[in-house]
Order: sequence, then C-alpha cells, then structure tokens
Amino acid sequence: MIKKLTALFALSVLSVNANAAMSVGGIFKQGGLIAITYDEAETSKITVNDKAIILDGDGFEYVPLNRKDTKLIVNQTLKSGKIISKTYNVTKQSYKVQHVKGVKKKHVTPDPKHLDRIRGESKQIKDARKGNIEKYFDTLLPEFATPSEGIVTGVYGSSRTYNGQERSWHKGLDLANKEGTPIISPLKGKVVLAMKDSYFNGNLVIIDHGKKIYSIYAHMYDIIAKKGQILEVGDPIGLVGSTGRSTGPHLHWGVYVGQQAIDPEFFLKDAKDLKK
Ligand SMILES: [Zn+2]
Repeated sequence: MIKKLTALFALSVLSVNANAAMSVGGIFKQGGLIAITYDEAETSKITVNDKAIILDGDGFEYVPLNRKDTKLIVNQTLKSGKIISKTYNVTKQSYKVQHVKGVKKKHVTPDPKHLDRIRGESKQIKDARKGNIEKYFDTLLPEFATPSEGIVTGVYGSSRTYNGQERSWHKGLDLANKEGTPIISPLKGKVVLAMKDSYFNGNLVIIDHGKKIYSIYAHMYDIIAKKGQILEVGDPIGLVGSTGRSTGPHLHWGVYVGQQAIDPEFFLKDAKDLKK
C-alpha cells in the first residue's frame, strides 16, 4: 500500500488528489487508463460512468478508458453512506479509417465450416484474460519496453476495412519488420496463452502482467515462450511473421485491461523511438 501511494504522489501532475479517501490518477485520454487507490476499509462501492467496479480488496483498481469516452465520473460510496463524486474530461483522439487490401478471402468472409473453430479460439482468448493476479510491476501504470523493432503500419483505434469490407476497429499497434525478427517480453509477466495457428491471430501469445493488465502478440512466425512461463523483460516470446489474417510480416501488439483494449503507445517507455 505504501509503495502504491508513493507512486501516486510521484504522478502529481496527473490530477491526483491524495487527501481524499480515494485518489484517481492516470492517462485521461481515449484508450487510456486510470488507476484508483481507495481506502478499502471505508469504501462500499465505486462506480465509473455508472458502472460498478469490482473491488478486489487491495485498495487499488485499474479502469480502462474506451475509444469513445469523453467524460469520466467516478463515484465512491463510503460505508457511512456518503458519496464522493469526481468528474474528469477525457481527451479525444482522432482515429482514421485504414483500408487493408490483399487480404485472403477466407480471412474476410470465413467459410461457415470454420465458425466453430473461430468461436472456440475466441473463447480461449477471452478466458485467458479473466485472471486477476498480483502486479508483476511496481510502477503505478504499466511501462512497456518496445517488444519488437519495426515500422508502425497500424495504430490503435482506427476503423478498418478488409478488401473494402468494414470490420472491427484496430485494437493494437502493428510493427512491420522482416520475418524472423525477435519479439521480446516488454514487461514482466506470466504466459497465459500460447496458441498455434489460430484462424485470425495466427501464432498468438498472451501475457498476464497482473491486476487485469494483459499484452498480446499475434501473427508470429513461431512461438518461443511456453504457457505458464514467467517472462522477465527481454525474454523471447517469438518471431515476427505473417500467420493468420495478415498481409505481410509484422507484430500485432495489443494491451488490454481484461477484455478491453487500450492504446499501447501510451504505455511505451520509448514511444519516441517508433518509426512511423
Ligand atoms: Zn494489427
């Protein structure tokens, strides 16, 4: 607890009020992340934009900001019945439409005979992001090293079309480089999924960094990390490839809070080094 509060004080530029029974800090931007530190003995409920946050008893929770959030209202109900309300503006981001061409037909409109497989893989991916283990990092917000060198060919939040057909928005950062380029663990964590040859994501790894923070690595040529393995920063995850729904070798890197994707670029220690 003392460690967490120290980290919050260090982030005083980020709208932190450490005097109240609840402190809210973080990145108040669409696709950002807020960290709520609260007195668990005094608190009965916290809602963010009217949605109840699961309080896991350690006085600290993360809440992801989605791609469209513009305002954040955090209400803390104390056991005394008193409600403390805090309102924050969320900075809008501009998202472009990206048209991806040359996608294999089976990855745009899958044959119905593959639907069971696709659903099964999607469930495994969701289930892998359901744990809640202790934080593997000691900063307030996760800080990632760059997982792989490459040129940015896709960013978080853009709407996407594949061969002209509208599909879901892009939930990560694409780093293009030649096949076989090493991918390393950018933050300590535990491998919770190592899936070979999945329909859309190809060779896929998911790492749990604790407190519902996950990172995912898709389209790899090969997987090196093993399920259950604890990876330190710099340990190998796999190699850049073009497996699954991909039109050229690149790493698709995503950061999630539970099932919700946030913008990986906000959490990169050396984002200035990205080649765009
Ligand atoms: Zn991608």
